[in-house]
Amino acid sequence: MDFNLNEQEQMIYEYGQNLAKDFDRAYWVNCAETRAFPTEMYKKVAQDGFVGIMVPEAYGGAGLGMFEMVLFQEGLSNVGIPLLSLVVGATMSLGPIGDHGTEEQKQKYLPAGCAGDLRFCFAITEPDAGTNTMRATTMIKEDGNGRYKLNGRKTFITDAKGSDYMLVVTRNVHHSEVERKTDGFTVCIVDTKSPGIEMQPIDVSISIPEMQYQIFFDDVDIGPENILGEVGKGFDILFESLNPERIILSAVCTGLGRYAMGRAVDYANDRVVFDRPIGAYQALQHPLAKAKTEIEMASLMTRKAAWLFDQRLSCGAEANMSKYAAAEASMHAIDASLQCFGGNGFTKEYGIFDLYPIARLMKTAPLNSEMVLNFIGEHVMGLPRSY
Ligand SMILES: Cc1cc2nc3c(=O)[nH]c(=O)nc-3n(C[C@H](O)[C@H](O)[C@H](O)COP(=O)(O)OP(=O)(O)OC[C@H]3O[C@@H](n4cnc5c(N)ncnc54)[C@H](O)[C@@H]3O)c2cc1C
Repeated sequence: MDFNLNEQEQMIYEYGQNLAKDFDRAYWVNCAETRAFPTEMYKKVAQDGFVGIMVPEAYGGAGLGMFEMVLFQEGLSNVGIPLLSLVVGATMSLGPIGDHGTEEQKQKYLPAGCAGDLRFCFAITEPDAGTNTMRATTMIKEDGNGRYKLNGRKTFITDAKGSDYMLVVTRNVHHSEVERKTDGFTVCIVDTKSPGIEMQPIDVSISIPEMQYQIFFDDVDIGPENILGEVGKGFDILFESLNPERIILSAVCTGLGRYAMGRAVDYANDRVVFDRPIGAYQALQHPLAKAKTEIEMASLMTRKAAWLFDQRLSCGAEANMSKYAAAEASMHAIDASLQCFGGNGFTKEYGIFDLYPIARLMKTAPLNSEMVLNFIGEHVMGLPRSY
């Protein structure tokens, strides 16, 4: 097995460094603090072919795989640019449309999505159902004319207002009436400006450019052209999107960890207290070395999961393990780095403490670490289901 990156893979991995020459972390931080979507950066990433990195070339994408996606995301986060809209919006939406859309839907959404002219968000979470997606109550009901009315509520939807379209996970049969709890789901592609949609921003304590919204659907008109795949078969689409999301977010976490550690190493080599650089003190050096080990191990598992995904082999175990390991490792890396910076770590100027909430988010969303461990316990190790 060859663990070396080939020339193209290396170039993709280094893309973040090149992007940072025009759009660096300071640009991203400024967008985060003003809650402004990083439009110019997103456009540039799209122009360079990375928004549609996994979309087939026939629809305006680069036609590459999950392994390249992971390298790209790691590279971006390595320089401190974790673009969540690229993960939850572009990847989570363009992928399913490419896999399950009609020819008309693919032509309408994919080339414009890859070019960065259309933005997407992905709406699963509901206030009452929470982690238990099976209990979703956002419903589509036939109106007798071959069309549907969409009603319900979604919450914490990233970049909903800035997006042109959203993929909404709905039910066409109430959960109390289905034979199997995975029956009766339908994924709809909804124009965010449709009559009957209202959005309220949610003020989250994480410094990221993308805003989160609660969305209310009141008799929103849905036609066959809005249905992705088949009515009632939406769970399969949802299920297929879970491993990619976990793998890509693992890459974001390992990159963020590397960014924090890189900053800490520079600082700890430079900062002299008690006549020697603080990096010489093992109380600082060992936590950093441990975190570095954890990050690289998580990165290896992430790349394995991506490789399996690209070979169309089962990757659920690896996707979940990498997500768990990467989220933990990035927290440890940021914590070890923060300690090196002393008081400076807490200042806006140094910006280390600000990395903490975004890494911590990955232990809760899109899927909390407890559910990841539940999966590993039950499906990988054969232990009884706990919930
Ligand atoms: C910044 C941000 C961005 C987000 N973006 C999106 C988005 O774009 N689209 C979208 O659909 N959602 C999004 N979410 C929502 C996110 O996916 C959910 O918050 C997350 O899945 C947890 O659901 P919940 O908040 O309802 O927690 P709950 O379901 O109420 O769970 C609370 C806690 O209970 C524990 N728990 C729950 N069930 C179990 C169990 N069976 N075993 C053990 N422990 C358990 C976990 O620790 C969990 O953290 C976002 C959230 C945030 C904060």
